[in-house]
Amino acid sequence: LFRDPQVLDEMSLGPQTLCLQRIAMRPYLALPPSHCQVTYIWINSSGTEPMSKTRIMQNEPESLEEVPVWRGVHKRELSLVPVAIFRDPFIRGPHKMVLCDARNRDGTPATGSRREECLRVMEAVKDQKPWFGFEQEFVLKTLEGLPFGWSSATAPPAGASAQVGLERVFGRDISLSHYNACVYAGIKMAGAAGEAMPAQWEFQVGPSEGIALGDHAWMARYILLRVWLSLGQRGGHMNFSTESMREEGGLRCIHEAIERLSQRHTQHMALYGGPENQQRLNTIGINSDFNTFSWATANRKSSVRVPGHVSQRGQGYLEDRRPAADCDPYLVCKALVQTCCSPGAR
Ligand code: ADP
Ligand code: MN
Ligand code: MN
Ligand code: MN
Ligand code: MN
Repeated sequence: LFRDPQVLDEMSLGPQTLCLQRIAMRPYLALPPSHCQVTYIWINSSGTEPMSKTRIMQNEPESLEEVPVWRGVHKRELSLVPVAIFRDPFIRGPHKMVLCDARNRDGTPATGSRREECLRVMEAVKDQKPWFGFEQEFVLKTLEGLPFGWSSATAPPAGASAQVGLERVFGRDISLSHYNACVYAGIKMAGAAGEAMPAQWEFQVGPSEGIALGDHAWMARYILLRVWLSLGQRGGHMNFSTESMREEGGLRCIHEAIERLSQRHTQHMALYGGPENQQRLNTIGINSDFNTFSWATANRKSSVRVPGHVSQRGQGYLEDRRPAADCDPYLVCKALVQTCCSPGAR
């Protein structure tokens, strides 16, 4: 096995144990299926990380309704209620990945599970057709903790975002693998790009209506964890529109929404991420200020940006640049709708 030049090449990618496991197990992962494996995925009690557990089904489920609730899971005795079904890009075949809403035994949402409260708000404004698109930034790291491809903790010279070239962008194959796996699974992806700092990347999910964005963003994070490691900290941007913003003359509605957002800055920041986000947004000259709301057209140093092309067309969407990379997209979408959509918004 280890005389194979391709294998040796892959060994140098990272810690030997990780590579050894991935390479040596490959033949078994490719065994033809004789049944259907369904991986249940839910969000942990701190609302920050996906968890997963797999069970066998004799027949391939044809729809979400055919996937049973999994009861008595974990020491918390959770019930995992299936809410969205995807193809499994890791073992392919008939196998499935199912995103679940974790419930307590009495049926209430488990701690960390924010989907239900988001869904309720989305149902209430359904007729306004809210769309969301999430830009998830992340840093690829190795098990030793350094960003992928870095030889020391000192950053290699930063270039520009979207640049090309092996010596400037680190880990493109990982980003591509993640992207392919997400598309295969059935996640609505919008794109992906390298960022200025080598090993920093971004993928975009959406645009998706209502609760679907949160579901798809969480699944894309889960797949990133399976393809590689946990996310390093960076930012996340939530793009948002309603039907009236997307229609001719919608810019007026975008401005109205921005006015409402400006009045609830503190409340939004409390839901958009932890202390690291405060640090990130206080890096003068790169981002907006954590404590102050600002907005601008075609300027990325503001809390909210109206893309230049949206301003020119007079319709489209706005971009909220304040969320942290590890925000809960359910909470961000819910806050945007509550502030911008409900009549007489607080
Ligand atoms: P940028 O880096 O310029 O901010 P990206 O291309 O990285 O923009 O991301 C744009 C995001 O906006 C994507 O996630 C896309 O799905 C989303 N998007 C596009 N149109 C809309 C819309 N009308 N409403 C909400 N989101 C949208
Ligand atoms: Mn982007
Ligand atoms: Mn970005
Ligand atoms: Mn950014
Ligand atoms: Mn953006």
